[in-house]
Parts: sequence; structure tokens; C-alpha cells
Amino acid sequence: MEPAAQPEPTADPAPTQNMQSDQSPSQPASHPAQAHSPRRILDLIWSTPNKPARKGMLFHLEVVFAVAAVLATLFTAWTPGRPNTLFPSLTATNSSLALQPTPTFLPGAPTPTLPNPNLVGIVAGHWKNDSGAVCSDGLKEVDLNLNIATQVQKILTREGYQVELLQEFDERLTGFHAAALVSIHNDSCEFINNEATGYKVAAAFATRYPERTASLTSCLRARYGAITGLPVHSTSVTPDMTSYHAFGEINENTPAAIIETGFMNLDRTILTQEPDRIAEGVAAGILCYLRGESVGIATPESNVTETSPAAIP
Ligand SMILES: [Zn+2]
Repeated sequence: MEPAAQPEPTADPAPTQNMQSDQSPSQPASHPAQAHSPRRILDLIWSTPNKPARKGMLFHLEVVFAVAAVLATLFTAWTPGRPNTLFPSLTATNSSLALQPTPTFLPGAPTPTLPNPNLVGIVAGHWKNDSGAVCSDGLKEVDLNLNIATQVQKILTREGYQVELLQEFDERLTGFHAAALVSIHNDSCEFINNEATGYKVAAAFATRYPERTASLTSCLRARYGAITGLPVHSTSVTPDMTSYHAFGEINENTPAAIIETGFMNLDRTILTQEPDRIAEGVAAGILCYLRGESVGIATPESNVTETSPAAIP
């Protein structure tokens, strides 16, 4: 660094050396803003008109560097994200802008996946887990359920659908993502009273698309009742049905229902001797939903109970 007191050189040193050469000893160049204050820039402007052209070029360089240094200082003092020391009134505006909600559309973000429109899950109640209801002569609910579920699978497969036959606590139930899931069960083999006959349908409506669940249950009721001739047994939908474990395991986009196709006591004849008609009724209900057929919407009073998967113990 050259001595600060040296007069303006007649030689042609580097611009930075020359800029520092006129600096007063009492004002060390600790910061560019101090070395190139507005006063210094004005001095440079007013002191050069009569100098030779070569000095004029040097002067222009000096001005450029000086202005750049002042601007750099201004921008350094006004840094986004910290209190505005130059224009305090703008700081609040900047902060409020930072709190504005960002657009929800994110380029490249995955779009929600849709269920396979051709995939259907059929749970054979109690299969691979327990017997379910058992009659005194050894008739087991699980055998009825598996027989019906297998036939439903055959019918839907014949209609062009891909059907997964699932166990009661099948690992595939976790996150099961399909056009529909229906679990098939049957009711007690004990004689309860003369009213203990008919079928029941229940579903979980706390899903992303409750209207689809309503359509599925409405279709099951309408088609199953019409084909089997069995009555709706609406008064005994139990918590076991409404809080059915699979409702809380499958993907929330999968409409699901559970159907008790009959009572093993009073409906024993059709269940054991016409299981194909039972299966046809269930399959027709599922096809009704998959094909968007109109049957009206079931209400909670008509055999369908609203419930939430969160209620599952
Ligand atoms: Zn059961």
C-alpha cells in the first residue's frame, strides 16, 4: 500500500492503488464506503475536467469503482431476512410477504393414486383364523363363508374382474387399494327367535369417498335381497360389523362393506343347499356398484350403520 500522503501520481499505477493514494491519514480505508464516500465521488467529478484524456479514463475507472463500492455497501446493509437497517418501514412488508401461503401446486409432486378399477377383494370370514359360529351338528360358519366367497370370486372373474380371495386377517388387507372390498360372514346358529332370519350389511362411512360406500351398500342390499328372497334383518347390526377390523386396515379410497348373508339356524336351508344363489346375490350387488347401477341410497335406518374405523378396539 502506498503512503496516503503521496500527491497524485503522474505515473499510471493500478486503479486501486491510485484510489487509495488520495486518502487522508485520519480516515483509514477500513471499509469501502468510507474510502469512497459521496463526498469523495463529488471531489473526483469536480477535480478532473481540465486533466488530460489519459487521466480522464483513469477518472472514469475511479468513479465506476467508487459507485460500485457504495452500491455494495447499500445492498449489504439491506439484506433480506434480517431487519431492514436502511428502510425500516419496508421490513414489516417483507415479513408479511414471507407469511403468505405458498401455492399448493407443486410441480413434480405425485398425484393421488387411484384404485385399480378392475380389482376387488373378497374376505372369506374367519378363514384361516377361527371357525366363527358353529352348529351343534358341526356346521361351521367359516366353511359356509369360504364356499360363498369362492363362488363370488368365480362370478366376478368371469365378468372380467381381478378378484383376490382374502383370509380374515390377511396381510394384504393392510392398505388394500381396490375398487371394492366385501367381507362375507354368516350369523349365529342358535335359535334366537322367529325374527332371526335374513341378511345384514354394514360399512364404514368415515372414508375419503363415503358416497361410494353408500352406493356399494345400497347395491348389496338391493341385489342380494332380490336374488335370494331373504329379508333385511336391520335390527341386529352389531358393533362387530360396524367396527369391522378390515375397515381400518384398507386404503381409505377403497369402499368396503361386510355382509352377513343369513342366519345359520332359520336360513340354514338356503345357505347349505343353495350357496350358488347366495353367491350370485353377493356378486350381483358388487357388480351393481362397479357398473354404477342406480338402486337408491341406503339409510342408517335401512340396515346400514355409519361408523368410524377409529372405533375399532
Ligand atoms: Zn362371522
